[in-house]
Order: sequence, then C-alpha cells, then structure tokens
Amino acid sequence: MAKAVAGVEIERLIQLLARLPGLGPRSARRAALFLIKKREPLMAPLAAALQTALDTITVCRTCGNVDSQNPCTVCTDPRRDPSVLVVVADVADLWALERAGAINARYHILGGTLSPLDGVGPDDLAIDTLVGRASAPEVTEVILALNATVDGQTTAHYITELLADADVKVTRLAHGVPVGGELDYLDDGTLAAAIRQRTTF
Ligand code: ZN
Repeated sequence: MAKAVAGVEIERLIQLLARLPGLGPRSARRAALFLIKKREPLMAPLAAALQTALDTITVCRTCGNVDSQNPCTVCTDPRRDPSVLVVVADVADLWALERAGAINARYHILGGTLSPLDGVGPDDLAIDTLVGRASAPEVTEVILALNATVDGQTTAHYITELLADADVKVTRLAHGVPVGGELDYLDDGTLAAAIRQRTTF
C-alpha cells in the first residue's frame, strides 16, 4: 500500500472531491492542492458558499426546482409565459433549456422517468402535481421535454394519456438531425426519426 502523503483532513478533502462528477482521484488531488494553495482567495469563499447553500437551498413546492427561495425564481418570474409548462425529468434539464434560451416558460420537474426495471413507478414522480398544474385555466400547452430514451418516451406516453381529458395541447421535442450534424454520422434511429418528422421548407 502506498504511504500517506497528507494527514487525514486533507485525505478526506480529496476523497470528497473525487466524488464530484467529472473528477477522478487524480484530478481530485490536483483540485485539493489548488484549493490549499489558494486558501484565502478561493478555499475560504468556497467553504462559505457551500455552507450558505447548505443552509438556504430548498426544493420549490410548485415545480420541483432547486433554489434558495420557495417558490423558486423561475416560478415567481412575472415575465415568463404562464400558458406554457415544460416538463423535464431533472433540474439539469431545466438548466440546459434555460442555457439554450429557447423558451420563456415555466417548468415542472418530474424527479426522474418511469422505469419498471429500476422500480420507478408513477407514485415516485411528481406526476399528480403536474396534472393539477396542467388543469389550471391559464395553461394551454404542456411540452414534454423528456429524454429520447425508452424510459423517457414511456413517461411521455403515460403523461399524454393522463392529460387526454385536460384542456391542453400536449407536445414533445422533435427528434432528428442535431444542429451542425452530418447525416453520414447519425445512428439509424435518429436518421429514421428525422425523415418521419420532416417539415415543410
Ligand atoms: Zn418553481
């Protein structure tokens, strides 16, 4: 076994950093050393920010987003179109759509997708509350922005059936050629979906 090069406190820091996505043990060591060298300008404010986040972050009771206020910043923003609800599986998907700046709507976070193999059923997701929100008079469209995976599409079908009686248009994201994509490199499923869902030029 390799000899320890640092005390337990530093080893603990490295172990915790190594659990972050995208960081393995080597980059965690590099990050830990960087923090130690930048103790005042970086490590102290980072520690304070982590503590503040720990104390203030909650889950929005309306949409399921994470924020330091409840209802969240997105739900309380009066400039957002209240007639459109975008349904996503995870907060990361909300952040991705907001980063793209593609839509000025409100969101509903399911907390995952239906997955019989992993034992995830409708009761494990925020589906009841979605049906309630979709039935509100101001909501006219529900966009199912779910992954183009078997679980994502199973979930989309399930929700579409549940909302059949609600007075809303249910739409989903287009499948097809990515922006900047070359046809020759696409997988068969994507290419076939792109042909089926072609639009008038
Ligand atoms: Zn919210």
